[in-house]
Amino acid sequence: MNLWDIKKENLKNSHFIFNIDILIVGGGITGLLCAYNLFDKYKITIIDKDKISNGITSNTTAKISYIQKNTYSNIYKYHNILTAKTYLDSQITGTNILLDIINKEKIDCDLEKVDSYLFASTKKGIKTLNKEKECLEKMGIKCFDSKLPINFPSLKCFYVKDTYTIQPLKFTYNLLNILKDKVNILEDTNLIKIKRSNNRYIIKTNKGIMIAKKIIVTSNYPYFIKPFFIPLKTYVLKEFVVTGKYNVDNHFSAINVEEDSKSIRFYQDNIIYTSNSNRISNYSKVLESYQKCLKDLKKYFNIEPNYLWNNQDVCTHDGIPYIKYKSNLYVITGFNGWGLTNSAITSKVVSDLINKIDNKYTKLFSKDRVCMHYICFILTNMFYNIKGYISGYLYKNKIIYSKNIKGLKCNVYEDKKGLHIVNSKCPHMKCNLIFNEEEHTWDCPCHGSRFDIDGNPLIGPANISIKVEE
Ligand SMILES: Cc1cc2nc3c(=O)[nH]c(=O)nc-3n(C[C@H](O)[C@H](O)[C@H](O)COP(=O)(O)OP(=O)(O)OC[C@H]3O[C@@H](n4cnc5c(N)ncnc54)[C@H](O)[C@@H]3O)c2cc1C
Repeated sequence: MNLWDIKKENLKNSHFIFNIDILIVGGGITGLLCAYNLFDKYKITIIDKDKISNGITSNTTAKISYIQKNTYSNIYKYHNILTAKTYLDSQITGTNILLDIINKEKIDCDLEKVDSYLFASTKKGIKTLNKEKECLEKMGIKCFDSKLPINFPSLKCFYVKDTYTIQPLKFTYNLLNILKDKVNILEDTNLIKIKRSNNRYIIKTNKGIMIAKKIIVTSNYPYFIKPFFIPLKTYVLKEFVVTGKYNVDNHFSAINVEEDSKSIRFYQDNIIYTSNSNRISNYSKVLESYQKCLKDLKKYFNIEPNYLWNNQDVCTHDGIPYIKYKSNLYVITGFNGWGLTNSAITSKVVSDLINKIDNKYTKLFSKDRVCMHYICFILTNMFYNIKGYISGYLYKNKIIYSKNIKGLKCNVYEDKKGLHIVNSKCPHMKCNLIFNEEEHTWDCPCHGSRFDIDGNPLIGPANISIKVEE
C-alpha cells in the first residue's frame, strides 16, 4: 500500500479469446497506452499476471518531466548533440501525448503544472549540473538559475518550465475505464512461454493457450533472454520512497544530478521524497536504505512518515529506452526511471510501426546505439551479474536454511504459518535467490526478479512460481 492506493473497479466481461490480432503483455502504463493507440483497428487482448497497474506504475513518483538528471549531456557525450536533441523532442512529445489524452478523455488524475528543479549538492555535482544546463540551453531550453525552494542541501540549482505531476493510478484506472469495453483485458493471466509457428505466436499462459498475430511485450522487463539479450544490455535500479504530511505554498518537483539520486515532489499536502538508488545487486542495502530514507525525512523536513515503499526500473547504457522488434514481436523496455513520458512516446512509436506509419523517433529507440561507452557498460553489467551470482552463493542468512528435496536445492523459511519452501535458484537465469528479511520476499540479485514468501512471482523477469512441495 502506498500514497496512490485507490479502489479499482472490478473488470467484468473479460474472457479468454483463443485467436487474437495483438496480444499486449503487461497492463502497466505502457501496455494501456499501446492498447489506447491501437484498439480502433485491431482485436486487442491485454494480459497481466497480476491486477492492471499493480506493477512498477503503481509505485512511481509520477513526474512528467523532460529534465532527467544529466541525461542530455550524457547522450551528447556518448552519441552527439543531434541524438540528445531528438531525445529531448521525444520527451516533450511524450508529455504532449499524455496531456492530449488527459484533456481529450477528461481524465481526472490531479494533473498539476509545476516547475522542475535540477540541483547539485557537491562540487563534482556542480560541474555535472553546469554541463547539463549548457547542453539544454544549446538545444533551446530556457533554464532559470535559482535556489531550491525548500530547505534541502544544495549548492547550485536551476529550473525549467512546462513540466507536470499526476496521480498515476488515477490516470491508469481512468484509462482502463475507457478501454474496458473496447479491449479484452485478462488479469491474473501470466505469460509463461511464447513460440513462433506458421507466422503466428502460440502463447502459453497459466489460463491456457492463445494464438496471436502480433505481440507487444510491455512487462517492464521482458521475461525472455533471447531474442535481444536484454539482461546483457540493461540493469535494474532500485529506489526508496517515503512520504509525509508537509505543506508548501507552491508545488514543484526537484531532482539532483549526483549518482545517489534524490527526488522531491508534492501531492496534495504530502511531500514525496525518493533516495538511495542502488543497483539491484547491492541487495544488502534494503534495510539500510529504508532507514536512511526515514532519517532524511526527519532531518530535512522534520516530519513523520505516512508511507514507505521501494520500486525498481530498467536502465540502459545511454538513458534512452529500447524498442526491439522482430517478426511481429515488439518489446518496450529501459525507461531509466522516466517511464511516464517514455511510455507515451514508445507506445506511439510501436503503434506506428504496427500501422506502418513513419515516426521520426523510431530510429532513436530502435537502432543499436553502439559506442565505446556501450562496450564498457556491457562489461560492467557482466561484472555486476557475476557479482550478483556470486553474492547469492556467499549469502548466509540465519533465519533461512537449505534443504535438498528430490535432488533440488531449496531454501526454507519457517514462520507461524509453517514452512515456506522454494527453489534456491531464480528461473530466469539461475542466479541464487536471497531472502529479503525486511519485506519477506525472495529477491534475485542479478536481474531483480522478486517472489513472495511462498514463491509466487511478484516482479519479473522471472514469470513462474518457485514454490516447492515437500
Ligand atoms: C522509485 C521510482 C520513481 C519513479 N518516478 C518516476 C517519475 O517521477 N516519472 C517517470 O516518468 N517515471 C518514474 N519512474 C519510472 C516509471 O514508474 C516506470 O518506468 C513505469 O511505471 C513503467 O511502466 P511499465 O508499464 O513499463 O511497467 P509496469 O507498470 O511494471 O507494467 C508491467 C506489467 O506487466 C505485468 N507482467 C510482468 N510480467 C508478466 C508476465 N509474464 N505475464 C503477464 N503480465 C506480466 C506486470 O504485472 C505489470 O503490471 C519511477 C520509477 C521508480 C523505480
